[in-house]
Amino acid sequence: MAATDLVDRFGRVVRDLRISVTDRCNFRCTYCMPAEGLQWLPREEVLSFEEITRLARLLVERYGVDSIRLTGGEPTVRANLTTLVASLATLRTDDGPIDLAMTTNGATLGLIAGDLRDAGLRRVNISLDTLRRDRFEEMTRRDSLTRVLDGIAAAQAAGFDPVKINTVVQRDVNDDEIVELAEFGRDNGLEVRFIEWMPLDASGGWAGDAVVGQDEIVARIAAVHPLEQVAARGAAPADRWRYLDGRGTVGVIPSVTKPFCGDCDRIRLTADGQLRTCLFATDEFDLRAAMRRGETDDQLGERIERAVGTKWAGHRINQVDFVRPSRSMSQIGG
Ligand code: SF4
Repeated sequence: MAATDLVDRFGRVVRDLRISVTDRCNFRCTYCMPAEGLQWLPREEVLSFEEITRLARLLVERYGVDSIRLTGGEPTVRANLTTLVASLATLRTDDGPIDLAMTTNGATLGLIAGDLRDAGLRRVNISLDTLRRDRFEEMTRRDSLTRVLDGIAAAQAAGFDPVKINTVVQRDVNDDEIVELAEFGRDNGLEVRFIEWMPLDASGGWAGDAVVGQDEIVARIAAVHPLEQVAARGAAPADRWRYLDGRGTVGVIPSVTKPFCGDCDRIRLTADGQLRTCLFATDEFDLRAAMRRGETDDQLGERIERAVGTKWAGHRINQVDFVRPSRSMSQIGG
């Protein structure tokens, strides 16, 4: 049966599903959660692999979603993750296998990169906000820089390509390392994507003047390593540049200063089975309860279509009426 597109009121077609497989994490990043962590979801409230795969299959086969990204919390803290990867990797649209990716803090990749690759994972994005061991411990409350660097090397050795690095930039925290991190990417065949800090931290400490915007990030890099912009990004979140000397590319995700909601093709599934049409959505749709009370795929499909029909034009971070979502980033998934 040919897929029918999931189209919102603004004509945007959903193609990208972000699945949070857990709200738990083995790090305590200061821009994400408090040192003591958060109130974790009780296990029975977390979707099972069967429930995740059922919803993913419905979205892929019935609605043509062709890209799935696994997120968390930290996805690799979910036990037997390769089992879920293997089942999702079998999903195909009319045009072929889905693009199955994962965003991780990389701390355990040294152990499981090969298994994830063999299970069918195709791409990984690894979070790395500093190359300085002391600062790493300060920012994540874990002395794990070496493990993350080993994880990056293990991902490349396992054949993931490209391996992308996600770096959240905060003024007066790690913005003095922008060029250093860009050079880390140049020297190791990695694409570093600098992410503007978004108001999704659990402690509510986000401030607009701590955001280092895309123009400033690019200007700092280009002053040392001349760049040229790569053609338009389409629905992808990152704007990209290539180094004029041919040493790769670099990206910026300008969620705050240059929102890209007009091309957004993403929806999200939280670890407890709530469908979110936007990272900053203030409402969500309970697919877990619907599944557990025995709804059919047709009924679930109608729910998803209704939900997508309510998707707003975009986040309102820079607007006076901006309301932070009640969930923090680790409870939504990147
Ligand atoms: S903020 Fe929401 S609408 Fe905008 S790009 Fe992100 S998920 Fe899409």
